[in-house]
Amino acid sequence: MKKTPGKVPCNPFSQRLGGVARRAAEKGIDALIVFSQANRRSLVDVDCDNGALVVEPGRKTVFYTDFRYTTMAERVAPWLDVRTMWKAKDETKALARMGRRWKRIGYEGSVAATRYLRMKEAFPDAELVDVQRELLLARAVKTPREIEAIRAAEALTCGIWEEVRAWARPGMTEKEIQRRVRALMCERADGEAFDTIICAGANAAECHHVPDGTVWKPGRPLLADLGAKAGGVCSDMTRNIVPEKPDARYRKAYATVLEANMAAIAAVKPGAVCGDIDAIARSIIDKAGYAGAFGHSLGHGVGFEIHESPNFAPKSGTVLEPGMLVTVEPGIYLPGKLGVRIEDLVLVTETGCEVLSAASPK
Ligand code: ZN
Ligand code: ZN
Repeated sequence: MKKTPGKVPCNPFSQRLGGVARRAAEKGIDALIVFSQANRRSLVDVDCDNGALVVEPGRKTVFYTDFRYTTMAERVAPWLDVRTMWKAKDETKALARMGRRWKRIGYEGSVAATRYLRMKEAFPDAELVDVQRELLLARAVKTPREIEAIRAAEALTCGIWEEVRAWARPGMTEKEIQRRVRALMCERADGEAFDTIICAGANAAECHHVPDGTVWKPGRPLLADLGAKAGGVCSDMTRNIVPEKPDARYRKAYATVLEANMAAIAAVKPGAVCGDIDAIARSIIDKAGYAGAFGHSLGHGVGFEIHESPNFAPKSGTVLEPGMLVTVEPGIYLPGKLGVRIEDLVLVTETGCEVLSAASPK
């Protein structure tokens, strides 16, 4: 009797890996050495804190790691050539053995200086080419599985925020609220994607304020920037609790940020240039009389890490593509007076975009 062949496992990220290998070949690169945990994971799904993924166009991808991770890597990625070859003290020799013929080697510009120097020593005649941007852009377009994981993480964050709105009361400190949010994220997800930011009153003028013993006073606003980590991916959202009778100054700032947030979201679609969308939000804020009060970029990509490509920065030439996930988070910060930021996580679709941050009001 004929044996039924087992299901052949394949790399769910092979399309992304193939794209990276193709672009490397176009640049005349003989091999890419990928050290960053998130970059490695985005190409072959192996998540561990030590290793080097070697992508040689036209050859089988090799993953070098140490004894602690080989069994796991073989189980998770049976399509990979997993090799044990790691002792920090002779990393130079290990690198040199990887490819003596290589003349042009792609590396991540963000590698530690010590590692870069080891690469220079290991490959004295090769040219090192920084491919960090290409690797990050390859990750910027998410796989359907990643999109579903991020959608679920954001829904979880929205759910937690709805609860916070119900129990958070003036009289509580920023720290108390932060700790309770953190506990909820540990209970229902894998913790926080980043340290939850809670700002009472004018503390929101510090965009990344570290919550402290400040008491949330009655009649004052509260800003919360929060995101759970779940299924190995991050989520991110900023909401404000606006007091019943905010003063005119806060009302105007809040209305301006909301207008900037909505106008930018309306412009998110495939083919749109990131810098142009940043400019749409920024000009609304500037024209309302707040020039200089929005000192950060409009937003950022979100994925395995909380800050990924693309970057919604002034003058960024990155073109949006379906499957990219970005935050849209304009803000106005007036030190000593107020801070408002509204942040939504947005998925670029074939025709426009979908806002994943369902928590209302903003
Ligand atoms: Zn945020
Ligand atoms: Zn953000």
